[in-house]
Amino acid sequence: MAQVLITEAALERRIRSLARQIERDFRGGELVVVALLNGTVPFLADLIRRLTLPLRLDFLGVSSYRGATQPRKLIYTKELRLDVRGRSVLVVDDILDTGRTLSSVVAKLRRLKPRLIRTCVLLDKPARRIETLQADYVGFKIPNLFVVGYGLDFAERYRNLPFVGVLRPELYRLPSGCAIEP
Ligand code: 5GP
Ligand code: MG
Repeated sequence: MAQVLITEAALERRIRSLARQIERDFRGGELVVVALLNGTVPFLADLIRRLTLPLRLDFLGVSSYRGATQPRKLIYTKELRLDVRGRSVLVVDDILDTGRTLSSVVAKLRRLKPRLIRTCVLLDKPARRIETLQADYVGFKIPNLFVVGYGLDFAERYRNLPFVGVLRPELYRLPSGCAIEP
């Protein structure tokens, strides 16, 4: 099925150290964590349980990959409910690839006048960057591979794998004209 790229143990270690770094940087303040659905769920759950600072949690639904490995138009499927004006916001995403998602989200949040915005991604794939942006907190820099697991999907599957893995190419190189089922 999928080859392991980042093990459960490595994820756990790295997330613990990311959380320590975030705690240090936001010492004393309250945080609004804005997580992007759906890929952040396992990462988010593990990360926030390591944070002891006061925080509130909200979600933005963003969809860019719709069933295939090629990016499509960005669609917001869920809007924020918390007021972030004057607040410190930590945006959490699963993976920073071209940067289109995160730069659109950051621009959208800026219009709501938060005090500051920081960004945190589990994975960073700098090879395919289009937008000039970096995340403030990065779990792992990875090579230009399509990864699944630990929240990341291929056609909505594999999100439940406890590790980050790489799919065998024959699983996603479908013959042209062959639709991927939802
Ligand atoms: P970007 O907008 O930076 O190109 O892409 C961000 C989004 O694309 C991520 O939130 C994720 O949903 C998706 N994405 C980018 N690279 C990968 C990948 O290697 N595997 C999976 N499963 N999703 C990816
Ligand atoms: Mg995503």
